[in-house]
Amino acid sequence: MTTFPTQETETAVAAPVTSPSEVYAAKLKAVRRELRDEYLQPHAKPWIVGFSGGKDSTLLAHLVVECLLSIAPDDRRRCVLIVSNDTKVESPVFQDFVDGVLENLEESLTALRLPMEVVKTQPLVEESFWVNLLGRGYPAPNRMFRWCTDRMKIRPTSRFIREQVSQNGEAILLLGVRRSESAARANNLAKHDRASNGRLTLHTDFKGCQVFTPIKDLTTQEVWVALLNSRPPWGGSYREVVALYKDALGGECPFVMNADDAPSCGTSSARFGCWTCTVVEKDNSLESMIGAGHDHLEPLAQFRKRLREVSDTPDYRSKVRRNGQPGLGQCLCG
Ligand code: SF4
Repeated sequence: MTTFPTQETETAVAAPVTSPSEVYAAKLKAVRRELRDEYLQPHAKPWIVGFSGGKDSTLLAHLVVECLLSIAPDDRRRCVLIVSNDTKVESPVFQDFVDGVLENLEESLTALRLPMEVVKTQPLVEESFWVNLLGRGYPAPNRMFRWCTDRMKIRPTSRFIREQVSQNGEAILLLGVRRSESAARANNLAKHDRASNGRLTLHTDFKGCQVFTPIKDLTTQEVWVALLNSRPPWGGSYREVVALYKDALGGECPFVMNADDAPSCGTSSARFGCWTCTVVEKDNSLESMIGAGHDHLEPLAQFRKRLREVSDTPDYRSKVRRNGQPGLGQCLCG
């Protein structure tokens, strides 16, 4: 079994009573069964599938397409929306890859006769990175003032989900999150489990939206094995995802839906994020990609460094806030 580099902390799954490959096969079978059963429920709530382009959401999209293909065309009654958010400052190599996958997927939908749609969300102009940084004069995002995740990720996808809920009455959001991603994710999913009614959990922020996390019990290795033993139903191969992970040496910035997901955005374990990310001290992903031959990213890495330096230099910042209060680094008691 191929082992892929990961920085994730694997949490224990149920003690194996059979061989690892049998456990893996049984888990995957259970995921497929759950997806099929949920899709065939007698209601019309659309599925919204969060797609970041990373391995987990890629596997989820694969399993969803496969699930629909296994159902007779006349029974494919519910609409499935594959939603991907583009912050407009994503790592260009990763965003090109995601765009390519979404284009292939979109092109294949008619031929596959699937009731699916590919949707790209993005921040409004006033939510965008440069408008806030240059136009409003915000400091480059940092751990204390990480204004970017909410504006560039949470708000655009939230808007889309609200629209869907308002058009359809209800919707089901499918996320490719897994317990073994991190201890924080495992806690979050355990909270969901306690609050869930069967396989669905009510979304805490959106009335009418339920969350379904079908691959939550798969390990990282199982995700890679599943991908490498499959071919995308929309064409191509998953070798490109593997190559990207190898070049970036690790994980991805996840599909962020709420503040609970946000801590993993802009951390050293979230490797495919915005190229402008100044929340991380060092952008290992960008630097690894440059090291792997993506030389055109070098000016972006330099510019990111410059953004951090400028924000970290008090002399470059106004001493007075726009509301008249003392600015960054100034004593509030005068
Ligand atoms: S990757 Fe960094 S800049 Fe982008 S939204 Fe996350 S924390 Fe903000």
